Amino acid sequence: MKFFEEKNDFHLTIYLYSEPSSKTLNLKEIKGYLKQILGDIYVEVRKDFITHLLNSKDINEFSKMLAQCKVRDLSSPEFEMDLLPGEIRYEKKLIEHPDVKLSGILYDGGRLDVAFQSLISQEELDFNNIHIIFTNRLFGTFDEKDSRYHARVIICGYPSIISTTGIVEAPAKSKEFYYLKQKYLMLGMEIPHEIINEKFQGNFIEYDDPRLTEIMKGYVMQSVFYHLIYEPFCKEKNCRLYNAHWQKEVINAQLRDPEFCKKHEKILQDIRTREVKLKNQ
Ligand SMILES: [Zn+2]
Repeated sequence: MKFFEEKNDFHLTIYLYSEPSSKTLNLKEIKGYLKQILGDIYVEVRKDFITHLLNSKDINEFSKMLAQCKVRDLSSPEFEMDLLPGEIRYEKKLIEHPDVKLSGILYDGGRLDVAFQSLISQEELDFNNIHIIFTNRLFGTFDEKDSRYHARVIICGYPSIISTTGIVEAPAKSKEFYYLKQKYLMLGMEIPHEIINEKFQGNFIEYDDPRLTEIMKGYVMQSVFYHLIYEPFCKEKNCRLYNAHWQKEVINAQLRDPEFCKKHEKILQDIRTREVKLKNQ
């Protein structure tokens, strides 16, 4: 595997893998955006990743691999547990029905990335090929500092994975929202939709949010920056590469001008003109 190149006459191909359960995610629009922002590159929109790459005879084995990525205990990154046949059957069902919305399971992002990478052929696994997978699976990473898992929107790697469930569930909502949620919970209720609309309209991203495609352009760019210069994130809150932990930060970074900070705007210009200095391992 060769992921770093010294030369600047690279010929990138970006593969975008669909996530059919998200009705407002438009990958053709993201394809157009990438071509506009990165210049002369090839972008291919593919079916959902597993359907596209998994050979049907390997479905049982891959279902097992996915079940092994499930987080069992939010406070431990331990995975040595026996799988129940039902868990494997459940994963198989998900593979066969990628358009079904999911909830309730958290996967270890690093392990999921390894499982996904195992499906990519060697010919497509090098510096010139960037694989960006959209999935509705929710994943997290284990944080040694507070010894627990935290849900994430993106895992940057080979491939990169972006979660359409993560964008709703991972970045925190306002304190006022959680206070109200607690209050309703004590009454055995969820916050009524009218109240959410009235008090928080547009303040956080919901499932099938009409802004999803626009927001995901920034996460796709984080994957691209990771691949090209090994630095997916930016410290500037207004830059699309900002690593947001709150919903309001996501909205600010992805939906308000400017798109990128001056530093990243300059790097993008260098990428377009192939003047960029790529990092070598
Ligand atoms: Zn930046």
